[in-house]
Amino acid sequence: MSTVTDQSALQALSFDNRFARLDPAMGSRLAPLPLPDPYLVAASAQVADMLGLAPGLLESTEWLDIIAGNRVPEGAQPMAAVYAGHQFGAWAGRLGDGRALLLGEVAGRDGRQYELQLKGSGPTPYSRMGDGRAVLRSSIREFLCSEAMAALGIPTTRALAVVGSDQPIIRETVETAAVVMRVAPSFVRFGNFEYFAHFDQHPTLRVLADYVIDRYEPEIAARGPAGTRTAASYAALLESVARRTASLIAKWQSVGFCHGVMNTDNMSILGLTIDYGPFGFLDGFDANHICNHTDQQGRYAYAMQPGVGEWNCFALAQALMPLIGDVDLARQALSAYRDTYDREHAALMRTKLGLRSEHPDDAALVSGMFEAMQASQADFTLFFRRLAGVNAGDPSGDGPVRDLFIDRSAADAWLSVYRARLATEAIAQLERADAMNRVNPIYVLRNHLAEIAIRRASGLSADGAPTAERDYAEVRRLLEALSRPFEERPGLEAYAAHPPAWASHLSVSCSS
Ligand code: AMP
Ligand code: MG
Repeated sequence: MSTVTDQSALQALSFDNRFARLDPAMGSRLAPLPLPDPYLVAASAQVADMLGLAPGLLESTEWLDIIAGNRVPEGAQPMAAVYAGHQFGAWAGRLGDGRALLLGEVAGRDGRQYELQLKGSGPTPYSRMGDGRAVLRSSIREFLCSEAMAALGIPTTRALAVVGSDQPIIRETVETAAVVMRVAPSFVRFGNFEYFAHFDQHPTLRVLADYVIDRYEPEIAARGPAGTRTAASYAALLESVARRTASLIAKWQSVGFCHGVMNTDNMSILGLTIDYGPFGFLDGFDANHICNHTDQQGRYAYAMQPGVGEWNCFALAQALMPLIGDVDLARQALSAYRDTYDREHAALMRTKLGLRSEHPDDAALVSGMFEAMQASQADFTLFFRRLAGVNAGDPSGDGPVRDLFIDRSAADAWLSVYRARLATEAIAQLERADAMNRVNPIYVLRNHLAEIAIRRASGLSADGAPTAERDYAEVRRLLEALSRPFEERPGLEAYAAHPPAWASHLSVSCSS
């Protein structure tokens, strides 16, 4: 922890903030609210490396102070972005970063620009009744899941580190404060567009659309610069977002990820998973699983996600109408959503099942599989992982999959259809198993795993009894397991196991 090294490395990150400079209407500039005596809970070595930061650097006082909001790095221009959105299907009016601040952007080692954002950094003009803070519990969940999703190959905002403080935060009980430093090429949401459209700020809407095209849509930008763009360019933007969103949600479905709060203010214009709140991974398969206990209607249940993604793209289309003008043009762009979703979901299912060729009966094979899984609430992750052991020729490898089903005969019936399908593929068993194990993770962030890590970090044992001190080692071990989710390793058996009985009572809400 040499201060000299820390300082020079800090200076090596040169901050800019093009989004803050774009137009004063994009939000409000303000400094973070300092958080006393910060300590490092965990850091992502991968994200540090992406930004060219030495791994130990994040333990330095300088970095702890930057993440805690006690120090603003030179060149950063902290701002809270203004946005609006549809929450649970209803127009929610002005929202905005109520507890997040965009510090600025830095160059990554790959030459791309990454924005750094603090989440939990204090109140902003958009905090409404909130305190602008995030609790340790939800910050650990966001940190772990961002990195777990990235390791699964699913587009997401990243998390550089989570920093805690003893400062008390009042929720349903008294908890402690934390800040996550999030990293992404952009944090622009559908809701940023909805804000300027709804409040009739059409010139600013165009500035925002042109900015997104210029920075993130090189193909559309190449057709002509801002100022010369016609309806077709903005329709192309809509189509591109619809494609990315569909592709993202196909990937969520393929790993059993439930976001929990798919409001349009939580939808990234870049198709990244953003705003981890009451998310969850399916344990036992239930298409109607609702991971957010405040979502009583199940609007955001697992099986609803693909349709909600499309609904959200329609909300974005409505916001872009002042620039697109023509309903048919917008409708045409939106049709990319379903095409992309259907194609990508089918392709992902084929790779999960170890199928290389396409066959007209594959859709029936997949729906029959989910029906059998649903009836027995077969564990989603274990099911696909164990499928690699099934042999085309005979049922000798069926046992571990069969064991996940209460209704064994339903499992056997599906397995025999599956084995017959495998027999049509010209690929050796070992080669197929290997390919399947590279797409079907063994370690996912099951709710109970996050919960145990949070309890330990909060000074409790895994069963919730008070311990002598807080222990962050479990957060770090879990991060390490999740950062290579496809590689089964000795010693990590507990991370691959069914959830314990107590975990069925865990519920996660928006109060974070
Ligand atoms: P979320 O449901 O977390 O996506 O949040 C919806 C809106 O509420 C966003 O504008 C957040 O910034 C804001 N918000 C959530 N929690 C807080 C908080 N503790 N303080 C201030 N604003 C918050
Ligand atoms: Mg949000």
